[in-house]
Amino acid sequence: MIWDTHAHLDDPRYKDDLQSVLRNAELAQISRILNVGYDLSSSIRSVSLAKKFSNIYTAVGVHPHDASSATDETWDRLIQLSKEAKVLAWGEIGLDYYRDLSPRPVQKEVFIKQIELANREKLPIIIHNRDAHQDILDIVKKHRPECGGVFHCYSGSWEMAKVLLNLGFYISFAGPLTYKNARHTVEVAQKVPLDRFLVETDCPYLTPEPNRGKRNEPAFVREVAGKIAELKGISFEEVAVKGFENGEKLFKKSAR
Ligand SMILES: [Zn+2]
Repeated sequence: MIWDTHAHLDDPRYKDDLQSVLRNAELAQISRILNVGYDLSSSIRSVSLAKKFSNIYTAVGVHPHDASSATDETWDRLIQLSKEAKVLAWGEIGLDYYRDLSPRPVQKEVFIKQIELANREKLPIIIHNRDAHQDILDIVKKHRPECGGVFHCYSGSWEMAKVLLNLGFYISFAGPLTYKNARHTVEVAQKVPLDRFLVETDCPYLTPEPNRGKRNEPAFVREVAGKIAELKGISFEEVAVKGFENGEKLFKKSAR
């Protein structure tokens, strides 16, 4: 059993063949998928996917790219959605200074607001961080996510990972771990404790080797887990089981 803890199966790229993508996942023993929202409409789509498919769970939230589009109505609707049984986390939220699609002060304000909402709804958070290490750290130290959280598709240094682990966060690995230039991420995967990592695809993006360039899908999370096993010198099964158990610890509502 493997848990793909970060997917976007509501993406239009799956509209014609979602059933076969889910079938591939089942054949690859991906027994659970966490589908993550990035704005109000994707959060609504995620919740309806979870209602339709028993192995799909969801997170709701507003991505930093979409921060400037959020209104009071967005927050009211997301709070309502977050109370649904299969919503396990608030996300994805954070800061993206690489593409800067929303102004940085708005990104920060919306990130802090959603940490507070997650705390109120007793949900962990899923964090997106691109080129914003210091500001993210400053914010999560000051506004602590009370139910914990995960840094998804981790790409930072081991130095930063140590700080995050000390703050109680989980570290999640995606396709880039399998890429040739993944020196930093490789070091983090080697050193991260077995009880603090997750695996994910972030599909349809970031397809792992050897399928890089194609559309990504949950079945390919095996490549990420396989790479972690190779780097840590342990079995694939151990990575799969630990990743699943870690998911159940962080996303507690899933265990109910
Ligand atoms: Zn994502």
